[in-house]
Amino acid sequence: MTPERYAKIQRVLALRQPTLTVLMDEVNKPHNFSAILRTCDAVGVLTAHAVPPNNGRESGHLPTFNATSGSAEKWVNVQAHPDAVSAVRALQAGGMQVLATHLSQRSVDYREPDYTRPTCLLLGAEKWGVSDEAADAADANIVIPMFGMVQSLNVSVAAATILFEAQRQRLAAGLYQQPQLAAADLARLTFEWAYP
Ligand code: SAM
Repeated sequence: MTPERYAKIQRVLALRQPTLTVLMDEVNKPHNFSAILRTCDAVGVLTAHAVPPNNGRESGHLPTFNATSGSAEKWVNVQAHPDAVSAVRALQAGGMQVLATHLSQRSVDYREPDYTRPTCLLLGAEKWGVSDEAADAADANIVIPMFGMVQSLNVSVAAATILFEAQRQRLAAGLYQQPQLAAADLARLTFEWAYP
């Protein structure tokens, strides 16, 4: 461990945002899963959440990582949940507003919510999107306006678009100016990242 590497770990952990996360609901393609984690790392997500592809369609395991991640899985912890609705409820019980990326009667433009609040972005599976039940359980439904012939974006592109809006708002609010992690967590994670 060089002093430069140690200093980088300290710098990155000081920017981590424990109050910003994603919940990937059965995102099943490894390159999408990996790309989302890479964006999570870039904006400072500490822990991501995922419901493994299931319901008899897949193995029930999280998608494997591939080169698209840029090794982000080493720096973003992934917590698995049995299903989207219970995950939404657990995150809400922990104080998060859950924003489902879902087109519905109550959808608003993704730039409207206040992302300086503890926020979880709910992302849907490539083929069928967020379920109506999970979207109903969420605090709000958000969409990126689409003006083209194609109805939806790739899920990792949608995740990046919205997470960087969250980063923009949090930068403006000063949330990257001082560590958001408690001192004890900073010390523990610095040790764990430096000496895995
Ligand atoms: N056929 C699916 C549907 O009807 O929802 C399309 C799913 S889309 C390919 C996969 C995921 O990307 C969505 O569940 C959502 O999380 C995200 N996504 C794609 N386009 C989006 C948009 N315009 N606004 C918000 N999220 C979007």
